[in-house]
Amino acid sequence: MSSLAEKKSLAAKRSPRATAVDSAPATACQEEMKEQLRELRLPMFREHFQTLAEQATRESLSHPQYLAELTRLEFQARRQRRVQRLWEESRLPRGKTWETFDWQRIPLAVARQGESLRDGSFLDRRENLLVFGKPGSGKTHCVCALAQRLVQQGRAMLFTSCSLLVQSLLAAKRDLRLQKAIKQLARFEGLILDDLGYVQHGREEMEVLFTLLAERYERGSVLLTSNLPFSQWEQIFKDPMTTAAAIDRLVHHCVIWELNVTSYRLENAQKNRRTTSSTQPKEA
Ligand code: ADP
Ligand code: MG
Repeated sequence: MSSLAEKKSLAAKRSPRATAVDSAPATACQEEMKEQLRELRLPMFREHFQTLAEQATRESLSHPQYLAELTRLEFQARRQRRVQRLWEESRLPRGKTWETFDWQRIPLAVARQGESLRDGSFLDRRENLLVFGKPGSGKTHCVCALAQRLVQQGRAMLFTSCSLLVQSLLAAKRDLRLQKAIKQLARFEGLILDDLGYVQHGREEMEVLFTLLAERYERGSVLLTSNLPFSQWEQIFKDPMTTAAAIDRLVHHCVIWELNVTSYRLENAQKNRRTTSSTQPKEA
């Protein structure tokens, strides 16, 4: 018997009492480790380090492989929790997803851009997405579909109707906390303003919207949908200067989608009507 370690292991094999004595510090060590992992907030490490260690011995995994497996579990669980939280905070309408949107119904160039925006790099570049089209053409749905994909990648998005947001900003202004409210929106990498111009707004309401757009310019992306082309935006912003300034900030770094398709709702209603009339019994 040459080394001390070998002597110890032989002794452990011979005497069960010696094993119990040796494993006591090991158990204490694991208990201490569990405590520390709790404090470090590494629940997956804490839950799995023992069973994975047994598995690693069985499958002759190396130390780095064992550690990599534990780290992967922790990472995945954390990513999942983050995505769940982002999804809840995003207020994105459920059901308006990538899968349920028929991308073939919109112009091919737009569908292709949809694919390329999915990687989220436009958010890093603080670019905006402006979507135009008639009511029912799918503006809200396709923007939500894109946003849903981005949330899945861990991006912070917020969906809000333009009117609702304007109302809340107006309330914030009255309480002298407009800047604070705008700052709170800054944590979202993508802010969806749905239906700009759908409701006629007053001058004061448009002022707060303009303040928001000016503050967000080059600091965070805006994803905006509108039935009104730029040429009619003066109706929204009330005066030509503010209109030009708002458009200027939005289009400086942006992607524009023109959906140019008829209403999906109308098309479906017409289809249904045709189906119903063709199944109705003909009068003799
Ligand atoms: P818009 O915002 O342009 O008024 P929406 O996105 O609200 O239109 O679409 C109206 C309805 O039609 C929604 O229920 C939406 O889910 C559906 N819809 C529109 N376009 C499509 C499409 N290409 N594929 C699937 N559903 C669509
Ligand atoms: Mg809409």
